[in-house]
Amino acid sequence: MTLGFSSVRPTYKGPEGQEDMPYLLTPGPLTTMRSVKLAMLADWGSRDPEFRDIVRAIRNELKRLAHAGPEAECVLMQGSGTFAIEAALGCFAPGRGRKTLVLVNGNYGERAAQILEHIKRPYTRIDGSDSTPTPVDEVAAALDGDPDIQLVFLVHCETTSGIVNPLIDIARAVKSRGRVLMVDAMSSFGALPIDMAGDKIDVLVSSSNKCIEGVPGFAYAICRRDLLVASAGRCHSVALDLHAQWTALEQTGQFRFTPPTHTLVAFAQALRELADEGGIEGRLKRYRANQATLVQGMKRIGFVPLLEEPHAGPIIQTFLSPHDPRFEFEIFYRYLRSRGFAIYPGKLTRRPSFRIGTIGQVDEKVMRDVLQAVRDALKHMGVKDLRPAE
Ligand SMILES: *Cc1c(COP(=O)(O)O)cnc(C)c1O
Repeated sequence: MTLGFSSVRPTYKGPEGQEDMPYLLTPGPLTTMRSVKLAMLADWGSRDPEFRDIVRAIRNELKRLAHAGPEAECVLMQGSGTFAIEAALGCFAPGRGRKTLVLVNGNYGERAAQILEHIKRPYTRIDGSDSTPTPVDEVAAALDGDPDIQLVFLVHCETTSGIVNPLIDIARAVKSRGRVLMVDAMSSFGALPIDMAGDKIDVLVSSSNKCIEGVPGFAYAICRRDLLVASAGRCHSVALDLHAQWTALEQTGQFRFTPPTHTLVAFAQALRELADEGGIEGRLKRYRANQATLVQGMKRIGFVPLLEEPHAGPIIQTFLSPHDPRFEFEIFYRYLRSRGFAIYPGKLTRRPSFRIGTIGQVDEKVMRDVLQAVRDALKHMGVKDLRPAE
């Protein structure tokens, strides 16, 4: 039988340890451990008591990792990260005269604004540059100037550039003014320490396929129980109703609709691997070493990183494209992929750039290998002048 494609198994011959696939140096999905992939070689029933135990354990472990405290709940939601963002905004973004303040310095803040627009919840926004962190004083001034702002939406690591926004300072500004804080911690949770109870973060959203190093398939919101209780009937959507999902998880231990069973058991394994690595602290150490090796090496080659040292996080690194006309991203990309590395195009509004992720099951050796492949790619293209276009 012909299906229009030659083989379900990838024919690509990748580096050792990566299952014949290139390393994913991207914002996710990421390269995962073999044990995580192997956990998926079983078909679980969603009603199975053991499976329900796994779901309960995942919810508890996520709360523990977030330091969410006893007043918090963790609700899992099928889909990618954006599904949980939309679910949480559907439940927590106010209507009727009150509004949400969206802090935008990249695509993911923009996406939250787009969701609010679509579900017709009032919002206002602070638009920053995609290469500087969200200014805390502007947030404070906006809150002082507009008592109708009830919820503040912040992207912790804005994966568009890799910038880490000042979560703790913004949390202080928001909470000292009695407002609710929702954080898109999609690409930071699991890598950067977050203390929800200590810093009074009300809602945190992340997904299965970022720094916990699971595979795609679900996302989650960790949030204050009283907010969840008050959100009954508020969601614009049936499938994305976080409150209804929570109620089902509490009462039956099950998702309301088909759960991504394989993804969940793989995620449970990924949580075990995270613990074995020394938890978030251990993982951060590896990611920081990846970042340092990659950024120093790229600078030595002559590339210019977008961000100043203190603003760049260990998640993903943005480099400005050289203005040399022989540099073509598509050729660069394909060359690196042939060497076993999948990188990511840039998404900056003004300057051409590309991104290399430093998260997932990759280490300093992988970073050194990608640096060698970058050097060879430049030679292959004949690129000599690495200065970025102005
Ligand atoms: C990955 C990511 C998301 C979610 O994107 P999906 O494609 O829906 O998984 C949201 N915010 C940030 C900051 C991200 O890095």
